[in-house]
Amino acid sequence: MPARIIDGKLLAKQIRDDLAQKIKAMVNAGNQQPGLAVVLVGNNPASQLYVSMKQKACAEVGIYSEEHRLPASISQEELLAVIERLNKDPKIHGILVQLPLPEGFDEQVVINHIKPEKDVDGFHPINIGKLQTGQKTFVPCTPAGVMKMLDSIGIDLTGKKAVVVGRSNIVGKPVAQLLLQRNATVTICHSKTNNLAEECRQADVLVVAVGHPELVKADWVKPGAVVIDVGISKVGSKTVGDVAFDEVKEVAGWLTPVPGGVGPMTIAMLLTNTVAAAN
Ligand code: NDP
Repeated sequence: MPARIIDGKLLAKQIRDDLAQKIKAMVNAGNQQPGLAVVLVGNNPASQLYVSMKQKACAEVGIYSEEHRLPASISQEELLAVIERLNKDPKIHGILVQLPLPEGFDEQVVINHIKPEKDVDGFHPINIGKLQTGQKTFVPCTPAGVMKMLDSIGIDLTGKKAVVVGRSNIVGKPVAQLLLQRNATVTICHSKTNNLAEECRQADVLVVAVGHPELVKADWVKPGAVVIDVGISKVGSKTVGDVAFDEVKEVAGWLTPVPGGVGPMTIAMLLTNTVAAAN
C-alpha cells in the first residue's frame, strides 16, 4: 500500500485559522496585537521570497509585521543597532533575522544580540540551552513543525527508533532533541556517517534535513516507516526534497511531500511563536 501523505499545507492552514481566532480574541479583549519584525540583509532571492511569504502569512492571521530591508553594504554595528531598536520597541514581540547573512557578518554575534524573549526563531544560545534542558522556550520553527506533523498522525514516539539526517543548529540538532524528549531512541547522521543507508533503514521515524536532492532512496527506508522530508532544492524549475518521493512512497507508511510539507509548517510555527511572545 502506498504511503499516506502528511499534508503540511492543510495542517498549516488549520494552525493559521486557529491563530487568527486567537489573535482576534486577544485584540477584542483589549490586548496588544502581536508584532513581528523581519530583518533582511542583502538581496538573496530565496531569502527575499521567504521574507515575503512570512509577511503575507502575518497579514493573513492578524499579526502586525515590519520588514527591515538593509543593504549588504551596511556594517555589522549598524545591523546590531537596528536589532537593538527592535529589542526596545514595544510594538515588536518577535524579531527574525533572515539567514544566511551576506559574507562579512558574524551570524552568531547577530543572533546573540536578539533579546531572548523576542527570539521567535529559537536560535539564541539561551533558548537553545532551555530547549536542551527541557525548559519552556521558543522551539525553532522547522523542528516544531516536524513535531506537529508527527503529532498529526497520532504516533507514540516512545521507544521508536528515530534517525535524523543532518546536524545543523536550526534543524537537525533541535529535531533530534525534541524526538529524544518524546522518548524516541535517536541517531543523528551527517556527512561523515559511515553507511548512511544502513542507518536510515533502521528508522521507524526518519527525518531528513540535508539539502541534497532525492538523497534517500526506497531501499534506505524500512517498510512502514514515517519519513519527514525537510530538504528543499531546486532542480531545474522543480522544487524537490531530500527524499526520492515517487519511489519512497511505495515503501514508507507516511511521507511528507515537497513542496507542501514541512515548508508551510515552518511558517505556521513562526506565527505561533510570535503570538506566544506577545502573551
Ligand atoms: P545545513 O547545510 O546547515 O546542514 C546540512 C546537514 O546535512 C549537515 O549536518 C551536513 O553534515 C549534512 N549532510 C550534507 N551532505 C550529507 C550527505 N551526503 N549525507 C549525510 N549528511 C549530509 O542545512 P540546514 O539544516 O539548514 O537545511 C537542510 C535542508 O533543509 C536544506 O535543503 C534547507 O533548504 C532545508 N530547510 C527547509 C526548511 C523548511 O522550512 N522546509 C527550513 C530550513 C531548512 P555535516 O554537518 O557533516 O556537514
